[in-house]
Amino acid sequence: MTQQNFSIEFFPPKTDAGVEKLRVTCAKLAELNPQFFSVTFGAGGSTQQGTLDTVLQIRGAGHDAAPHISCLGSSRANLRDILQSYKSHGIKRLVALRGDLPSGYGDFSSSEFHYANELVEFIRTETGDWFHIEVAAYPETHPQAKSPQDDINSFVRKVRSGADSAITQYFYNADAYFRFVEDAQKAGADVPVVAGIMPITNYSQLSRFSEMCGAEIPRWIRLKLASFGDDTDSIRAFGLDVVTDLCERLLKGGAPGLHFYTLNQATATHAIWSRLNQGGYFK
Ligand code: FAD
Repeated sequence: MTQQNFSIEFFPPKTDAGVEKLRVTCAKLAELNPQFFSVTFGAGGSTQQGTLDTVLQIRGAGHDAAPHISCLGSSRANLRDILQSYKSHGIKRLVALRGDLPSGYGDFSSSEFHYANELVEFIRTETGDWFHIEVAAYPETHPQAKSPQDDINSFVRKVRSGADSAITQYFYNADAYFRFVEDAQKAGADVPVVAGIMPITNYSQLSRFSEMCGAEIPRWIRLKLASFGDDTDSIRAFGLDVVTDLCERLLKGGAPGLHFYTLNQATATHAIWSRLNQGGYFK
């Protein structure tokens, strides 16, 4: 089997204290030698500078970092400038997304870009093969997709437009992931699909996120988490068991890697990784 890698996602901090905290978080997680760190990009380019600053901070500390870039609500001219800036800093990897805009941001039927495949195509036209392009994938189907097959077709379009690999939305159902990879391959999208992993540390926050992004928390996990109430130690211990088991299953089943949604916290990701490492993974 080829080498299985893992990567780590941060969001750009908004305050000086957040920047300092992320520096510490990054240093702790860098001990685990991830393949790269990625940094999210806010709706409509709202964190454009913060994303770049965070990427440069991570690279300055000696680690590979990839900015996310989203297209909904951005103009070609603006995206061209961002790509040139990333290129001039020697950045070689991007996570290319459509993005989500908060309600009240306006009507985007007139946006210059509507879907991520258009962004991938634009990046290839503007910068050739300079960037390794990651795109998003949805094992449990993107919430706005007309149907699961339509969503697979959208994924295939992104790959045909030039994506090199993909990172999934998080999920707690390994079968959905394996089925998605199989279906995507059958439909002609044969690129590595890294599994996105969301550690479980806070039930109400997880419920909120999952509601928004269409990730299912299986009933047995939901009931257990709810039964712990405010007992955060029990939530974390149970979350660690459940998510480590999921990761093991994914890696044993041939997932090319794991991408951890850390929410800028080191502890849970570090604990999962350490257990996996004891089990012989990522050595
Ligand atoms: P698309 O691939 O364009 O798909 C969006 C929807 O449109 C899907 O339902 C798809 O089936 C449908 N669709 C696609 N193409 C077409 C077409 N041609 N015709 C009709 N329907 C179509 N959001 C951010 O704002 N910033 C981030 O940094 C960020 N990082 C992320 C990282 C990962 C790994 C993931 C999984 C998600 C991330 N997101 C981020 C969230 C993402 O922007 C949302 O999930 C968004 O709703 C969809 O983005 P996409 O790139 O998958 O879009």
